[in-house]
Amino acid sequence: MENKPIDETFYRAPGAPMNKEEDYIVHATAFGGKVRALAIRSTQLCKDALRIHKTSPVATAALGRFLTGSLFLADSLKGDQDTQTTNIRCKGPLQGMTAVCEGKGNVRGYVNEPIVENAYLRPGKLDVGSAVGEGILTVIRDYGLKEPYVGSVELISGEIAEDFTYYLAVSEQTPSVMSLGVLLEDETVSHAGGFLIQVMPGADDELITYLEARAGGNFPDVTFLLREGLSPEHILDMFLGDPNIVYLSASPIGYHCNCSRDRMERNLITLGEKELRDLSEDEDGVHLACHFCDKTYTFSREEMTRLADGISHNS
Ligand code: ZN
Repeated sequence: MENKPIDETFYRAPGAPMNKEEDYIVHATAFGGKVRALAIRSTQLCKDALRIHKTSPVATAALGRFLTGSLFLADSLKGDQDTQTTNIRCKGPLQGMTAVCEGKGNVRGYVNEPIVENAYLRPGKLDVGSAVGEGILTVIRDYGLKEPYVGSVELISGEIAEDFTYYLAVSEQTPSVMSLGVLLEDETVSHAGGFLIQVMPGADDELITYLEARAGGNFPDVTFLLREGLSPEHILDMFLGDPNIVYLSASPIGYHCNCSRDRMERNLITLGEKELRDLSEDEDGVHLACHFCDKTYTFSREEMTRLADGISHNS
């Protein structure tokens, strides 16, 4: 094969960062609009998750895939105030995972058991499926209406990408292909990302058969391609093989927690006056850690008493 230099301008979606270290999501369409295609580079985001949660390798891979997959689902949220919570409850050693997407491209999450023993499918390939095991994937989408939309499916394999694909097939009746990958090297995340291909209504069977064949064939791991220096745009082009692919836009994504002292205070108040009085007995005060970013908030005895007084005055 001839080693041609990659045409960087052809493979760049409008808005894509010039810096190869930055994470982003790219939106594309192909086959005359019959296919919607998204791809993500999430290396930095997965590194952030590892730094915050100090996860063991198989937990790092599982959480990284879960955060990336959640961003694909959240891409169809419309308003900036819309939120999406994805949750897995499972019997495998990881016990479960939660991810919250809020605002465009922001995700935060955690795994219930961050330190678990690693299992491998083959050398270098972590066995995420057995670390997750059997379970349920639930997706809660809050559009600011009275009731949030809730959907759930049983896990297919615990490999995450297949589970999200199944969810999309059941809940949205949209044939989809999702691929997710997190590569660990030297005890950190070296490459992470994924892609989502969706067939729009009205697509002919021939196109669906073609895409199924691409998905079922030996298409390389997304992390292998990222490691080779391919951009998310280039990976979509390679998978789809449509010379008329149109890159619509790209936008930044990242790990973002929006916790604050105010929010923690409001959580405390929901415990009720009696509980707050009991907690205020502790001379050291109360220490609360955020599940998502591990930041700790300390409330002194005096503050706890003030919060309890606030409730008794209002009641
Ligand atoms: Zn936080």
